[in-house]
Amino acid sequence: MSTTNAYLSVAGLDIDIVFKDIKNLHISVYPPVGRVRVAAPHRLDEDAIRRAVVERLAWIKRQREQLRDSDRQTERQMLSGETHYVWSQRLRLDSSRHGRSKISVAGTTLWVTTPADHREDQRRALLDRWYREQLKAAVPPLLEKWQPLVGEEVQKFVVRRMKTKWGTCQASSRAIWLNPELAKKNPRCLEYIVVHELTHFIERTHNEHFVELMDRHMPDWQVRRDELNDAPLASEVWDAK
Ligand SMILES: [Zn+2]
Repeated sequence: MSTTNAYLSVAGLDIDIVFKDIKNLHISVYPPVGRVRVAAPHRLDEDAIRRAVVERLAWIKRQREQLRDSDRQTERQMLSGETHYVWSQRLRLDSSRHGRSKISVAGTTLWVTTPADHREDQRRALLDRWYREQLKAAVPPLLEKWQPLVGEEVQKFVVRRMKTKWGTCQASSRAIWLNPELAKKNPRCLEYIVVHELTHFIERTHNEHFVELMDRHMPDWQVRRDELNDAPLASEVWDAK
């Protein structure tokens, strides 16, 4: 199956398009940040796809809202036996040890050690902080590697929880923001986001030039981007004319 890819921006939403040998157009919304992906038949052009997305905009927004709500409902209880991901490795949480607050990984166990009287939300806050630290430590070597390759420099990077984005940037202040959720994914995915944001310093929008630059900087960026997606929360088949 041959695929080519493009980006589209509709009503402030960034949409990834994958052209495939399929009959109908599929729109999918992916957790955790609500990325929208359209799988489209080769025969459709970007205008037709844009129209299809505009017609489904209310549906897409509903899915993204649901995603934010369900995110809260499925919040982990931080109990032993739960599965948590660290750099795409599946680990089993163990909170049976008590003592000074500490997170450590041994084999496939994620040890969350807290004083015995600590509650669930305190254990969660400890783990959240730890994920941020993991991400903060992983970024500088990537910047060192990629800044000279892309030819752009970052003044500061900020790790911040974002509801709908893996990363974002501000070219004027040379700043990039990264979602701490990236520390749960394969490190290749973080590398892709760093290069993506650096590339935005050259080209602000997801236009052809941007895709060209990404192809040049990181030929396998699409594979890495797709790796960021879990199973879609919802998808809808649309019989596009
Ligand atoms: Zn972007």
